[in-house]
Amino acid sequence: MKHKTIEIFLFIDALGWKIVNDHHFLTGLLPHRRRIDMQFGYSCSAIPTILSGKTPAEHGHLGLFRFAPEESPFKSLARLAWLFKPASFWNRGRVRHHLSKVLKKFYGFTGYFQLYRMPLWKLKFVDYCEKRNLFVAGGMENIANLHDTLSKKGVNFHISDWHLSDAENCLAAEKAIEKGKNFLFVYTASFDGVLHDRVGDDKAVKEKLDEIQKLVESLYRKAEKYAESVQFTIISDHGMTPLAGTVDIMDKVAQSGLVFGKDYGVCYDSTMARFYYLNDNARSVIAEIMKEFPGHFLSKEEELKYRIYRSDRAFGDEIFLLDAGIQIVPSDMGGIPLNGMHGFAPENEHSFAALLSNRELPEKIEHVADYFNFMIERAEKL
Ligand SMILES: [Zn+2]
Repeated sequence: MKHKTIEIFLFIDALGWKIVNDHHFLTGLLPHRRRIDMQFGYSCSAIPTILSGKTPAEHGHLGLFRFAPEESPFKSLARLAWLFKPASFWNRGRVRHHLSKVLKKFYGFTGYFQLYRMPLWKLKFVDYCEKRNLFVAGGMENIANLHDTLSKKGVNFHISDWHLSDAENCLAAEKAIEKGKNFLFVYTASFDGVLHDRVGDDKAVKEKLDEIQKLVESLYRKAEKYAESVQFTIISDHGMTPLAGTVDIMDKVAQSGLVFGKDYGVCYDSTMARFYYLNDNARSVIAEIMKEFPGHFLSKEEELKYRIYRSDRAFGDEIFLLDAGIQIVPSDMGGIPLNGMHGFAPENEHSFAALLSNRELPEKIEHVADYFNFMIERAEKL
């Protein structure tokens, strides 16, 4: 039996509007195209927004870590501090990768969990936002996610397993079509990795886009066999800004005489430093230090515009955003600069996300946070 329509939404991490145009990506198959405002932050902010239609201000995911000594799930680790010496051993990439796995299992986290470069001594001061698998039923606690909403509406859907590779996810989607599913949310993440590494290498980017195009065409052809019409839409979360320089904020703040955990807290993401002030002196010392760095503290108006303003200041009392292309190195996320990074001002030409479809797009979709309702509206029409 053929469906009337199969609806496919393919998420491609970091498929920015600029790269889509520079490479004329899938112009023939998906002629309806739009530049989309990215969700301020990183994929860890955008994915929960895409999967729920809620903003970081509402769902509470901005950076992976936040300074929250009272709520840190890692407090018990402090007693094992003697175990994590010497620091040079525990800071090795491979060791941290394995330790992340052990901690993930120990704490029963089902979401994406990586320690990155977060110092082990700092863990007892921080909370981690993605403890749960956002893609599955009940994955966002009291917020209904895509899985919950489609289930409630009785849609015959398939949502990817984010642990799988792009090829595995596309294959699983094709199998789901064979089994009669007619709404698919397919997740792919490897384009992001290629761009972090090789954003300026046109040949490498093109090769990767060609690879994705093959997956898209195969999935499209499969759907055509099982439906009279296929509605195919690609969505992305942000673009990728080439490296323009680095700054060492961590060292300057560490040398200020302020004591972490007593005077202030901070999370160093790759493109922003989120400060938590525990006294007024810390606020003025840090304001002075930050004057020399290329960037600015976000105003309340900017936080509201970027949909990250929270009165409880969970994301930091003040957020210092670096100018486009300038990375914080070292940060809690890494010790070396990457050729490309996202998480800069959404207005930067490299920041915009992209929406590509074979069907006309409604006017009202302008921001990553608009995808969710669009997907639900399309699902309701099946
Ligand atoms: Zn990325």
